[in-house]
Amino acid sequence: MNDIENLIPTFDVEDVRADFPILNRKINGMDLVYLDNAATTQKPRHVIDALTRYYEETNANVHRGVHTLSVEATDAYELAREKVAGFINAPRPETVIWTRNTSESLNLVAATWAEEHVAKGDNIVITAMEHHSNIVPWQQLATKKQAELRYIVAGKDGVLELSNISNIIDSNTKIVSMTHVSNVLGTVNPVDELTRRAHQVGAVMLIDAAQSVPHMPVDVQAMDVDFLCFSAHKMLGPTGIGVLYGKYDLLNDMSPFMFGGDMILEVTYEDAKWNDLPYKFEAGTPNIADAIATGAAVDYLNNLGMENIWRHEQELTAYALAQMSALPSLTIIGPKDPTLRGGVISFMHDSIHPHDLGTGLDQLGIAIRTGHHCAMPLVRSYDVVAAARASFYIYNSKHEIDELVNGISETEGYFA
Ligand code: PMP
Repeated sequence: MNDIENLIPTFDVEDVRADFPILNRKINGMDLVYLDNAATTQKPRHVIDALTRYYEETNANVHRGVHTLSVEATDAYELAREKVAGFINAPRPETVIWTRNTSESLNLVAATWAEEHVAKGDNIVITAMEHHSNIVPWQQLATKKQAELRYIVAGKDGVLELSNISNIIDSNTKIVSMTHVSNVLGTVNPVDELTRRAHQVGAVMLIDAAQSVPHMPVDVQAMDVDFLCFSAHKMLGPTGIGVLYGKYDLLNDMSPFMFGGDMILEVTYEDAKWNDLPYKFEAGTPNIADAIATGAAVDYLNNLGMENIWRHEQELTAYALAQMSALPSLTIIGPKDPTLRGGVISFMHDSIHPHDLGTGLDQLGIAIRTGHHCAMPLVRSYDVVAAARASFYIYNSKHEIDELVNGISETEGYFA
């Protein structure tokens, strides 16, 4: 990228903000400063309208009817799948499976692929910075199969320690399942390098992309990952819908996760034959409206451009790290170098409990997260039980980061 391109503003945050009705809300009489985007993002009018329009104009069940509404609903549902496939550069739309969320996608792989391929004496590799959804399914599976669950640990700097990686990912490793971007530390992990290592030993690579797909360009073919999971609600889409991407041959060989309507080709009183991909994994009436609205969210993000979104968040993160580091009462965890992280900053105050800090900021209209962020072992490794977390998205501005920093100082005054 040349210098001139660097100077071009990526998009106008004020224009983006105007698309989000909720940003007009007052919280405790103050303008809302929404900095809890790693938990869930707000929805633009475009997505809300897609939902309303679907229910007002198209609502019908999919894949089952010959009538006009059913055909239109099916087309819109499948078009949304194609949009998501394009968004992550999946080679074929049928490699995109709709699930409820990242957690369900991870569980699906653990309950099907891993259930069939992990045996006694094998190992499963995850990292020390996983969300509970990418720890607990593997703990359960490892116990059931008498397999070993191994961790790639992180240093205090929030960066994975890879010096002994060839001993961790070894010839008995069947699957490496790891987060692309940590929802606590913000660390962007070297998934390409680790995917190469996993493939060297014949293991498959699963990426928890809940905190990356919404924020940066992600290309599953370039990354060569075997599975990738994410949630629509963290990328402007509705709750209750998520995605599992998988390589075609892997998905095709896997057993279904759930049984019921739509996932079968033929049923006799004795037996059943499974439907083709992706339907084999979509038993029952799917979440049609929310899938279509996810397609609308993808359109909105594509319109801004994922490179631009990533650049905007990097800029906000660098600014926030600089401003927040100037407050002597705060300890920020995660990489110091802003280029090694996404738009997530977790921190502790030296005298105010995170919950009190969060409550104080809420009085000023500022929404942050407090707690263990569903990564209890990681947060505890910093000798605390809870941390505060600010996380950014397309509609956040430097002005809002100033509001956060001022709000922390103001809350300090309250507790002094
Ligand atoms: N993994 C990561 C890294 C996350 O940040 C989250 C959500 N906080 C999840 C998994 C789980 O996502 P969901 O609750 O949508 O299933």
